[in-house]
Amino acid sequence: MRTFETIIIGAGPGGLACATRLARHGRQVLVLERRPQVGPKVCAGGIPHHALEELGLPPELREAEFPLQVIRTPWQQARVRFEQPVITTINRQRLGGWQLQQALGAGVEVRTDSPVTAVGDGWVEGANGERLGYRHLVGADGAASLVRRRLGLASRRLGVGINYQVPGRWPDMEWHLDPGLFGNGYAWIFPHRETTSIGAYADRAELGALELAARLHRWAQGLGIGLGQTRARAALINFDYQGWDFRPLFLTGDAAGLASGFTGEGIYPAIVSGEAAASAILDPAFQPVRLTRLIRRQRLHHRLQKLLATHKLICQISLEMLVLAIRAKIIGFEALEMY
Ligand SMILES: Cc1cc2nc3c(=O)[nH]c(=O)nc-3n(C[C@H](O)[C@H](O)[C@H](O)COP(=O)(O)OP(=O)(O)OC[C@H]3O[C@@H](n4cnc5c(N)ncnc54)[C@H](O)[C@@H]3O)c2cc1C
Repeated sequence: MRTFETIIIGAGPGGLACATRLARHGRQVLVLERRPQVGPKVCAGGIPHHALEELGLPPELREAEFPLQVIRTPWQQARVRFEQPVITTINRQRLGGWQLQQALGAGVEVRTDSPVTAVGDGWVEGANGERLGYRHLVGADGAASLVRRRLGLASRRLGVGINYQVPGRWPDMEWHLDPGLFGNGYAWIFPHRETTSIGAYADRAELGALELAARLHRWAQGLGIGLGQTRARAALINFDYQGWDFRPLFLTGDAAGLASGFTGEGIYPAIVSGEAAASAILDPAFQPVRLTRLIRRQRLHHRLQKLLATHKLICQISLEMLVLAIRAKIIGFEALEMY
């Protein structure tokens, strides 16, 4: 059995960020990705603008930038302008392609078409029955993580997201908070370069995927948006965080449950936790300052989400107050972000 110093399952943003950091420090890394291609993923592609800068993602990955945020609720239609772009959209395929080039350039071995089907003590097994040994194993394998299951961690707190990538660019970035339709979730309009991501996110405990899809259609119809010609794509988002460092096993991103339960944002958490897992492998005494800040933010989002879930009226009033506070600039837009 061939043994690798670190095996990473999953070539999403978390797995590739982890792999690149390790390889840049001269470590041997193998990434196993079940899909034939790195990058494509159901996602609206919104990322806090400052996070993009902090992570060193190059400007050519930016699809569109938005200093103006349009927030609609049953009682308000807010157009809130900021001095700097607040959210930027990125294309997941381009992000994956760029991250892959970084990883390969650093010396990472990436195998696509390589689903891991079993995880044991010191080994993983692929669909072809091949066993590979590891000294460290990173579960960067998303919301239905095999590594997480191996650790015996249940995933009870899940969100569901549905995305339509429609042709043409919508003028503004819009958030539609309508508790009557989406509970404590929301619908979005996130323009990209030549297309627009239109979709909805909800806590799965409140709304199942089919009901969410029906409500998304009703909402879109009301705005005169035709979704019929475009294929819907849906996926789960894990926000059931229960730890990330189980050395020699590590969890990152959605596998760790680090997405926001409130907004479903998970790209920045995946990259931050991927880099933290690499740093902990490189230096067992590593202090994850940035990740600790992110976990605090994630808990705050979770508490807010729980409050909104208590009663429809509480949800409606709280969301209206939140939007009022953002409009009055009493709280910054970053309250909604994981950055
Ligand atoms: C509809 C929708 C919209 C979203 N919009 C946004 C947004 O606007 N902004 C944002 O920040 N986040 C958004 N998210 C969340 C975001 O997509 C995820 O949080 C993020 O992709 C998590 O990154 P990750 O690296 O942890 O996992 P993933 O990106 O899910 O990557 C996991 C990888 O592991 C691979 N894999 C899984 N199992 C195995 C296995 N057994 N063997 C080998 N490979 C395996 C998968 O193929 C995949 O490539 C959205 C999610 C959805 C569903």
